[in-house]
Amino acid sequence: MSNSDALYRRAQQVTPGGVHSPVRAFHQVGGTPVFMHSARGAWLRDVDGRRYIDFCLGFGPLILGHRHPRIQAAIHRALNRGLGSGTAEAESLRLAELITRRIPWAEQVRFLNSGTEAVMTALRLARGATGRSGILKFAGCYHGHVDALLIQAGSGLAGAGQPATAGEDPGQPGAGESSSAGIPPGVVTDTLVAPLDDEQALRAIFAAHGNQIAAAIIEPLPANHGLLPQRPEFLQTLADECRKHGVLLIFDEVITGFRVAFGGYSALCGIQPDLVTWGKIIGGGLPAGALAGRRELMEQLAPTGPVYQAGTLAGNPLTMAAGIAALSQLTDGSVYASLETLGQQLDTAFADAPGWRLQRAGSLFWPCATDPATPPVIRSPAQIPAGHAERYPALFHRLLDQGLYLAPSPCEVGFLCTAHTPRQVRQLARAITG
Ligand code: PLP
Repeated sequence: MSNSDALYRRAQQVTPGGVHSPVRAFHQVGGTPVFMHSARGAWLRDVDGRRYIDFCLGFGPLILGHRHPRIQAAIHRALNRGLGSGTAEAESLRLAELITRRIPWAEQVRFLNSGTEAVMTALRLARGATGRSGILKFAGCYHGHVDALLIQAGSGLAGAGQPATAGEDPGQPGAGESSSAGIPPGVVTDTLVAPLDDEQALRAIFAAHGNQIAAAIIEPLPANHGLLPQRPEFLQTLADECRKHGVLLIFDEVITGFRVAFGGYSALCGIQPDLVTWGKIIGGGLPAGALAGRRELMEQLAPTGPVYQAGTLAGNPLTMAAGIAALSQLTDGSVYASLETLGQQLDTAFADAPGWRLQRAGSLFWPCATDPATPPVIRSPAQIPAGHAERYPALFHRLLDQGLYLAPSPCEVGFLCTAHTPRQVRQLARAITG
């Protein structure tokens, strides 16, 4: 038995499924998870000494690769000053200034410990600020494990739960059934679910329920049910309807923030949300989340405003130092330019692969198994060919055997980082298409 299998056997005794986040368990691709020992740059090494080129990269935080020397050094320096004191500290101020100076509409930022926490706070803030209860989300988008949003979610829940859209008004509050047990119906009563890529449905929902909705939350570049680029017209319609009905627009950029541009997808699509949620890259690889927006909105949070939010370890100096070290390398845009070049090399190597399509945006990519009926760009979960989920596990294991680590789920995207080389990217393309 391999060391990895032995550890997995032990882990299952003491942890549900042997893992601390479901997708890690390989349930969607079969087999047993590989226990990793260490990592550097674009490489992972498992507990049996095998090496893999990592295209999963911790599900997104590691845009500069594993163990980037400047991030490591910043963490060591912070560590020598202490692990945080739960007092006001300058490190979080520095990270907040680094961000707010470059993203003008993000006038204030509050740091939290995860993307889930950021989303949870964004919803509470939107409800507090508008005095309304309704939340509009989009089928296939994932926003962390926030109770009210675990309806037709992506990521580890992709495909789970009853579609709210089946034969009923897609915008009917509470029409959806939550995708997780343990969520009382009352918690999702105020959640409306809209399809992606459908302006008509969007207008109908706003016409019927617009004055009850506090906020619409969307991944502007959905990346949790495959990579599903939205048409600019669709995002603009959403922004217009929100403005018309006094609904706050929340962009969940936990994956795309600082990933597709320093200002996230908002900077690329030219739409400024009222609130944005960040996570992953912002913590330089340590646990982090953040919520940002206009000053007058953000100041409704405690202690300046009536909307309560708090966190014992929020803004801890190690995470802040790692975040500063990561983000300060992303400010001049050169990283995005070089990752785009790498992405284009992946496109080129991938071109004309029969039966597979690569959907890509910058350093995010998603190989999808296609059939003759697949539209030129897949923009909603409903357009993903049924065969994709069936064919992905074999692809995943073939690549794993060749030392290429993709996310162990057909719905998770792949990530490129600055440590990847053109050769590694061509190797990936050849392995998928070959
Ligand atoms: N929002 C989006 C778009 C995400 O992709 C994720 C996690 O993958 C979250 C929120 C939740 O973040 P976390 O896992 O840090 O709680």
